[in-house]
Amino acid sequence: MHELSIATSIVEIAAGHVLEAGGGRVLAVIVRVGRLASVHEGALRSAFDVAIADTPLAGSELRVVAVPVRIFCRSCAGERELAGIGSLACPTCGTVSGDIRAGTELELESIELEPPDTSTIGAATTGPVEIATP
Ligand SMILES: [Zn+2]
Repeated sequence: MHELSIATSIVEIAAGHVLEAGGGRVLAVIVRVGRLASVHEGALRSAFDVAIADTPLAGSELRVVAVPVRIFCRSCAGERELAGIGSLACPTCGTVSGDIRAGTELELESIELEPPDTSTIGAATTGPVEIATP
């Protein structure tokens, strides 16, 4: 299954970043998926739930940011966002363009970690405390 190998890569990359950040509980993993990336969102979610088992990401949520397709239209001399992926014609003038500027990406955008325990931070940043001696 295509989506399972993608989910496995997401988990591997994300787990590496979490390790670099010093660990912590992962709340969510945010990925950007272009409409032309040929990834089925529902299948990716199911695959993600399977892939995170027994990893530092277990229990986290996958958030998918759908990226619309943008083409560069030579007639309009500008980028145009397409409403769908049925055709690559400029929505303004109808010129078909093969110059795709966005919509094919599949990338890890960010990882949401649980905020660190504030009491721990407080203890760590208190600094030297003078102890009164009798
Ligand atoms: Zn145009």
